[in-house]
Amino acid sequence: MNCGKCKTKAVISLPRHNAAFCKGCFTTFMHEQVARAIKSFKMFAPEDRILVAVSGGKDSLALWHILLTLGYRADALYVNLGIGAYSDESHRKVRHYADTVAAAHGAKLIVHVVEQEAGGGIRELATVLHRPTCSTCGTIKRYQFNRAAVEQDYDVMATGHNLDDEAARLLGNVLHWQDEYLEKQGPTLPASVEGFAKKVKPLCRLSEREIAAYAVVNRIDYIVEECPMAKGSKMILYKEVLNRLETESPGTKQRFYWGFLEKQNKPDVPKESMAEKDQRTLHPCQSCGQPTTADTCSYCKMMAKAKTATPR
Ligand code: SF4
Ligand SMILES: [Zn+2]
Ligand SMILES: [Zn+2]
Repeated sequence: MNCGKCKTKAVISLPRHNAAFCKGCFTTFMHEQVARAIKSFKMFAPEDRILVAVSGGKDSLALWHILLTLGYRADALYVNLGIGAYSDESHRKVRHYADTVAAAHGAKLIVHVVEQEAGGGIRELATVLHRPTCSTCGTIKRYQFNRAAVEQDYDVMATGHNLDDEAARLLGNVLHWQDEYLEKQGPTLPASVEGFAKKVKPLCRLSEREIAAYAVVNRIDYIVEECPMAKGSKMILYKEVLNRLETESPGTKQRFYWGFLEKQNKPDVPKESMAEKDQRTLHPCQSCGQPTTADTCSYCKMMAKAKTATPR
């Protein structure tokens, strides 16, 4: 099998694009796909400062790598969740990338350690709060990324969500008819109110398999293991179902997700815009100032409860 562009030996075939590429042409293809997403979903401009949310996995490190290679000003934030060996290893991978490749581009890494603020790792915190670990984790990560982006004047926050993540999330939202989540599911979420950072997903056109191949071809050292708390999650099940469909009919995931985005842009019934709704319902948290619908935001409530439950 030869590369469809330069006719040398191909290293990867992409059935959904009916194409095969050598290492060099594959890397160019990936960069073009990201550049296309950035442009068509109005994510950011060349002069903007970007904060990338990194976990040590392939998607977020590949995203940081692509943005730096394309010449963007991209720093990163890593949240150490305190999940034993998994967090130690993922932190090492992120630190290694930051000290070698990112530093050479003049980019920096910001680290937030959950244990330092909560007095324990994410599992201990969830136990104390009687909440599921992943929802506690979600609240913390959303809060810390938004805080870092707003306080340190980044124009936009970027996450490594890929086509598989977005198609699986869409399937979950449709199965449960989560109207509000469906409304907010998109590659660009504008900064609707003061205190909320703009959020973008530049890898939304790329599949998990393509990103893993990109990381290998470009020698990005990432943590292969998933977070141990992800075991048995619904998202993994939805991804398995979609992979089955994709094998039978290449391009299914792409048609499902992109079709949704097209429909989202042409609503039949004019609705109150997301920004208008946020401006009407959100106001500053009385403790930390971040936007919330209640008097105190869920992060501050969580931390207050954790501190009374585990006095230090
Ligand atoms: S699997 Fe759960 S605990 Fe692990 S990173 Fe994801 S949300 Fe957080
Ligand atoms: Zn080629
Ligand atoms: Zn708060």
